[in-house]
Amino acid sequence: MQYKEVILLKCGEIVLKGLNRSKFEQKLMDDVRRRLSPIGTYSLVSRQSTIYVRPKDEASAAAIDKAFEAAKDVYGIAALCKAAECPKNTDEIFKILPEYCRNELAKAKTFKVNAKRSDKNFPLTSPELAALAGGVILSRFPRLKVDLDNPDVTVTIEIRETDAYIHANRIPGAGGMPLGSNGHALLLLSGGIDSPVAGHMIAKRGVSLTALHFESPPYTSPRAKQKVIDIARVMTKRCGNMKLIIVPVAKLQETLRAKCPSELFTVLFRRFMMRIACRIAEKEGIPALVTGESLGQVASQTMEALNATDAVVDRVVLRPLIGMDKEEIVTIARQTETFELSIQPYEDCCTIFTPKHPKTKPRIDKLLQSEANLNIDALCEEAISELEIIELP
Ligand code: ATP
Ligand code: MG
Repeated sequence: MQYKEVILLKCGEIVLKGLNRSKFEQKLMDDVRRRLSPIGTYSLVSRQSTIYVRPKDEASAAAIDKAFEAAKDVYGIAALCKAAECPKNTDEIFKILPEYCRNELAKAKTFKVNAKRSDKNFPLTSPELAALAGGVILSRFPRLKVDLDNPDVTVTIEIRETDAYIHANRIPGAGGMPLGSNGHALLLLSGGIDSPVAGHMIAKRGVSLTALHFESPPYTSPRAKQKVIDIARVMTKRCGNMKLIIVPVAKLQETLRAKCPSELFTVLFRRFMMRIACRIAEKEGIPALVTGESLGQVASQTMEALNATDAVVDRVVLRPLIGMDKEEIVTIARQTETFELSIQPYEDCCTIFTPKHPKTKPRIDKLLQSEANLNIDALCEEAISELEIIELP
């Protein structure tokens, strides 16, 4: 029996992109390559909205399950399967099919065969091929029944340009668009649950990320910083290699505490975070910011507070969690593997000077009055001058 096991990745929304399609496919292949390189050596070929992943040696063939696992969470893949790649010859196909799909068929009560033929010179039509394949399966698994509407297993036979493909294990992929196909954004990354989820949601739309973290030593500890580095490192799995920029803000916070009304501290500080983020984004040529804010979750996430922070920014702020409940956010944090890190109890610079009664509806004129006592430019630049850059992974 002559077949080779390969992985087929069905491209997602990128098929809609007309002329940009090859650029998009290239980005997707780059990301798949990045994910598979620690596992083995695979060749990648893109044809008709499918990326064919073929092991180049025996060790990589033996690691194909691992490669399949890794491909499951690559953004831009709508569906994926492992498949037997075999000659376009019905005798071979009907020998290989019950053997290759035996595990799926043994577990099922009902099945259907889905035959597709892009090679119109193949001697059987798709319905003929499906009917014959169904007969072969029934003779090997007599307990099975055909169910065309809601089968336990769908066996697919695809007759493509050079080979035939047989599979019965197609699953949905991560969806979204390939990393880097939709630009780059600056993610304000805390050690909390929300901002890593916001990063993943925007990365899923094809955006590569730089992360920006504010720390406040000695009020925040080295462990709090390490936690954020660990979160960012986990994020690189799905979001791609990332630069993490860390800016110390203890002096800025001390100045705000000394010179401004305490009930305005939180919003005033958030305005500084946004100003610093914009300055860094400008220097790095990044057109958008991303935050993990969710409407009404805390005092600084009321509409008035969001207006007050947005009043100092000069570029779009993406807030993918704005309409989400905490539970929905936690579900994604678990799926993307940041949750367990995020719930470690280390302090964040946003919580150390939190006033007892923060204003939930700050008035812009009051904020401007407080800021009139401050040298905004100097405070921002002083913090930025001490930034540290960590390249991940
Ligand atoms: P998170 O769980 O992401 O920390 P949160 O619900 O605790 O969010 P806030 O602390 O008000 O909310 O922060 C709102 C957003 O501001 C965060 O999602 C993040 O984008 C940004 N942010 C908060 N703290 C920091 C920080 N130390 N460094 C960088 N960005 C931060
Ligand atoms: Mg937080």
